Amino acid sequence: MSVRIIDHRIAERKPCASLACDALVVGAGFAGSTIARELAERGSMRVALIEQRPHIGGNAYDTLDSQGVLIHAFGPHIYHTASERVHAWLSRFTAWRSYEHRVCADVHGRLLPVPFNLNSIDAAFAPDKAARITELLLSEFGRGARVPIIELRTKSDALLHELADYIYENIFLVYTMKQWGQTPEEIDPSITARVPVLIDRDDRYFQDPHQGVPHEGYTRLFERILDHPNISVHLNVAADELLELTPEDPDSKDGPFSGILLAGQPHDGLLIYSGALDELCKWRFGRLPYRSLDLVYRHYDHNPVQPCATINYTVSEAYTRTTEFTWLTGQDVEVSTVLEEYSLPFEGAPGQIPYYPVVGEQNQQQYERYRALFSKLPGFYPLGRLGEYRYYNMDQAVLRALELADECI
Ligand SMILES: Cc1cc2nc3c(=O)[nH]c(=O)nc-3n(C[C@H](O)[C@H](O)[C@H](O)COP(=O)(O)OP(=O)(O)OC[C@H]3O[C@@H](n4cnc5c(N)ncnc54)[C@H](O)[C@@H]3O)c2cc1C
Repeated sequence: MSVRIIDHRIAERKPCASLACDALVVGAGFAGSTIARELAERGSMRVALIEQRPHIGGNAYDTLDSQGVLIHAFGPHIYHTASERVHAWLSRFTAWRSYEHRVCADVHGRLLPVPFNLNSIDAAFAPDKAARITELLLSEFGRGARVPIIELRTKSDALLHELADYIYENIFLVYTMKQWGQTPEEIDPSITARVPVLIDRDDRYFQDPHQGVPHEGYTRLFERILDHPNISVHLNVAADELLELTPEDPDSKDGPFSGILLAGQPHDGLLIYSGALDELCKWRFGRLPYRSLDLVYRHYDHNPVQPCATINYTVSEAYTRTTEFTWLTGQDVEVSTVLEEYSLPFEGAPGQIPYYPVVGEQNQQQYERYRALFSKLPGFYPLGRLGEYRYYNMDQAVLRALELADECI
């Protein structure tokens, strides 16, 4: 493996000299790494990739913890996709461990499979009632249907109403409040309406045809993606250490940028940016809202600790969910590591990470204001979860990067 990684915490000087490139990519997550490979390989461009963290992989980075358990350092990541293009592309760089994710909700100590399905009904209700609800659902909607709880409420049957209320109160409400920091009144009714019941006993969390985790882990997958002679990777380098955006009109706050300086020199090549645009623009229109996470890893001297990979705490506890990594990775160890996730607003404190864009009309408008500042820079492309301020899964971030590469090459 000959991936060219330069760690600038260790290197004596900043990467100015080695940054001569046709394309500068900011961020070594799925979005940045995928496009870096495509531009280098398919586009024969010299690509410099800078990453502010001390590692590649972005939020999908995995590593062995102090007791030798392979953990996902920024929360559990399960690969799933229906895109043949994404699957074929990623499969060039990894074999897959076949894994189908299963999640339980802890409802006052009782574990119910989620998404809520016919097995959950059996676990939640007395046998005769569960049988009646199941029969009703099957005759009303047919096996395999996904029925939003709002639709259950439109039916005249009292049992279906009771089921919808049960799911809303015990599976959806508290979890959503914890996850997004909202009161029940603030929760968008359109989201509530979409909470589905699966009329099936298939209790897999994802239904995509391709599911799993990289056989040798995510970090290894990233090493292979970035292993190309046209790519140089620079760790521990934040964009603002190297990049300067020059305004068309220095007196105008709203005016667009007209040039990019890279280490003080004009950069006429591509700039693919997978960091946050509000940060890049020094928050001139205010902070875009994101949710962050406090991640607490607990070590155990036995394995398994939980009866399923992930438990969502839907009515109790301050954390949203716990995940035991060995369920995902299949690692054969006697000890175990379980992650607790606490959701909180991103406030920009040192070390805090913006994980989830808070999608909504007003926030989108604020993002578009930032985006408009780059309208006169044809080689500038925001990309990925932060750059596009969109809720992408890994496969969607890869697909978007492949499509952008099609456009750029
Ligand atoms: C807790 C959690 C669980 C998830 N689980 C799943 C899952 O099970 N399945 C799934 O498909 N998806 C999952 N996702 C989504 C997945 O993480 C994203 O789809 C993916 O990380 C997007 O890749 P990205 O490259 O856009 O962003 P990132 O992975 O965030 O990469 C962006 C990179 O840019 C770097 N960067 C940012 N700003 C700068 C700067 N100014 N200078 C230099 N570098 C910078 C960051 O350090 C980071 O490394 C999960 C996300 C979270 C938060």
